[in-house]
Amino acid sequence: MKFVSVPLSLQQAVMRTLRQKLTQASYFLQQKFPEPQITYQQRGTIAGSARLQEWEIRLNPILLIENQQTFIDEVIPHELAHLLAYHQFGKVAPHGKEWCFIMETIFEVPAKRTHPFSVHSVRSQIFIYYCRCQQHELTIRQHNKVLRGKICYICRQCGEKLTLLAEAET
Ligand SMILES: [Zn+2]
Ligand SMILES: [Zn+2]
Repeated sequence: MKFVSVPLSLQQAVMRTLRQKLTQASYFLQQKFPEPQITYQQRGTIAGSARLQEWEIRLNPILLIENQQTFIDEVIPHELAHLLAYHQFGKVAPHGKEWCFIMETIFEVPAKRTHPFSVHSVRSQIFIYYCRCQQHELTIRQHNKVLRGKICYICRQCGEKLTLLAEAET
């Protein structure tokens, strides 16, 4: 995956919403919670994930940049509620009643399980193949055909069979 750097202003907006939600939880539950670590390493079409033991929230940098505050308002409460549900109730169903309670009663947001963001850009993958003379970009469909052994692409210039070099996400 290409390295995606999240603008500082966006990272600050993430922290603002995170702290605001944490304050709401502390006030409601009369308890202080440590601030979760935020990382921007979530890949693929997933918006974010909560690492319960590590007390960490992973965010998808591409979907964050594309959707800005809408992403923050949706994903931060969702993932933070996973951490808090684990903290307060231990191992419970991921989107069970404890999680719903935190979302609806404490954060006062709808308890939605899935995110509404377009995943077009995170799904369109390009695969780099090479031959003796150049690099070739294959789409995921072409790549899948190669994987299934249905087809073998030949370079029109040198006549050599294309070989997979690396996977790159756009
Ligand atoms: Zn979830
Ligand atoms: Zn060639």
